Amino acid sequence: NKQIKSDIEIAQAATLKPIQQFKEQLNILDEELELHGHYKAKISLDLMKRLEGQPDGKVVLVTAINPTPAGEGKSTVTVGLGQALNKLGKNAMIALREPSLGPTMGIKGGAAGGGYSQVLPMEEINLHFTGDIHAITTANNALAAFLDNHIHQGNDLQIDTRRIVWKRVLDLNDRALRQVVVGLGGPMQGVPREDGFDITVASEIMAVFCLATDLKDLKQRLAKIVVAYTFDQEPVTVADLGVEGALTLLLKDAIKPNLVQTIEHTPALIHGGPFANIAHGCNSVIATKMAQKLSDIVITEAGFGADLGAEKFLNIKSRFADIQPEAVVIVATIRALKMHGGVSKQELHMENIEALQAGLSNLQKHIETIQAFNLPFVVAINRFTSDTDQEVDALKAFCEKEGYAVALTEVWEKGGEGGLDLAEQVLQAMEQNTHSFKPLYDVSDTIPNKILKIAQTVYGAKAVEFSDKAKKQMAQYEALGWDNLPICMAKSPVSLSDDPTKLGRPTDFTITIREFKPSIGAGFLVALSGNIMTMPGLPKAPSALKMDVDEDGRALGLF
Ligand code: ADP
Repeated sequence: NKQIKSDIEIAQAATLKPIQQFKEQLNILDEELELHGHYKAKISLDLMKRLEGQPDGKVVLVTAINPTPAGEGKSTVTVGLGQALNKLGKNAMIALREPSLGPTMGIKGGAAGGGYSQVLPMEEINLHFTGDIHAITTANNALAAFLDNHIHQGNDLQIDTRRIVWKRVLDLNDRALRQVVVGLGGPMQGVPREDGFDITVASEIMAVFCLATDLKDLKQRLAKIVVAYTFDQEPVTVADLGVEGALTLLLKDAIKPNLVQTIEHTPALIHGGPFANIAHGCNSVIATKMAQKLSDIVITEAGFGADLGAEKFLNIKSRFADIQPEAVVIVATIRALKMHGGVSKQELHMENIEALQAGLSNLQKHIETIQAFNLPFVVAINRFTSDTDQEVDALKAFCEKEGYAVALTEVWEKGGEGGLDLAEQVLQAMEQNTHSFKPLYDVSDTIPNKILKIAQTVYGAKAVEFSDKAKKQMAQYEALGWDNLPICMAKSPVSLSDDPTKLGRPTDFTITIREFKPSIGAGFLVALSGNIMTMPGLPKAPSALKMDVDEDGRALGLF
């Protein structure tokens, strides 16, 4: 029983190359690389102009089945696959989201991969990194301050303080701030009103930041954000407040992608990290496009399972940015399959072939979803040490019987070496791409039809129901000309349905849309089914209890 090292122990034992050394390999000019210490750098957007005429690298999207709360290992497999492709002599790069401090301090842990497939320096990536999240927090809160000041200074726009939809944000889990009252203390302290805080990654500015293609597009999108409604119920935008220039200025450096490396020196861009429920859940368009200029193959990831992250990558990000994946990796763990087969969380480490087989229906549904987009795929079995050979064989046998490409993936334990089979199969899948990828719906279709299409094709639902509030909102959006936007579904990540208790492959169910939230700056309508938490709380024993720093400044207990 060999001693299993923690992610941070593995990370701290690794030797990094100075990030400058990647310049030549990636064709980055001196003046385009902005160093943040020795091992992190921002890359200037000038590079995109210089390389405009160069061909784009191919994109591989990593997604998963409906995950257990611990995650399926998408980031880990993304990093491992990038390393494996480099081992095979390919020029591959990784594009990932930036971690938020909420989950880091709370429960989920970091988001820099794991084991021998991590991006480094993991402490910095997981903590303040290059300050992008700080910049987004500041832009968001500056907008809130401009809005409150406008009301205090006479409210020329006639903003109804009961209809302000812009919240303040903080990059922490802090339930006590979900609902607050601001402006208390008399006439000199502003106008009292109800307000609230979200976590920064849930800010519409994060979604805007991740969909923008350049600074100009960023400013145009920021200008369209709706912050409130007037007494006549007309929308009030950032452009009405006249602050899109200031907000863009606050983000001008953050918008440059961050270059780091993996444990095996595979280059990675880590940039932007929107929620995968009320937003689209993948790294910035700018980082993906830049990685396509810097390498032949880009491995990237989208949050939660294929019903949320991949659906939005393919229906929102691909549509806006014209990025089409060449192949998709569907990560499945034996543990999650057993969970879908009815095994309780406490018993997931015990062999149970019967439950595993019952849970395969969940994988099957996600495969059908990727097929509906006409994309080739490989199932990656992300192996945990508790998985038995019999369990792995049962999953492989299922895929082989159905004719699905499948690869046992041991990148967590072995790094790139453990992903060579996956890498070879991904290369084969890329060759099988028929280039007939197409988003599932036309944006010009009606709002209910677009949602029905997603619910039926991706979730396997029978029908969609709308609350009275949602119906009223749809009529309002049509009148405002907002109905021609893609839909961003906010749904439970645990189940294919909107009921987290329905595991496996539920059938004969209805999705209920409770309400909508227009994200006009980002360019989509958020459809909410069930309650989605935009300011998480901390658990009874948060990860923070294990964290420390020694006298030499070395981080301890970060996973
Ligand atoms: P996701 O991207 O799907 O949310 P991550 O790749 O971030 O998942 O992994 C979640 C956690 O699980 C990380 O702490 C990672 O170290 C751990 N993990 C992932 N794969 C394995 C594995 N095969 N064995 C053990 N731990 C793993």
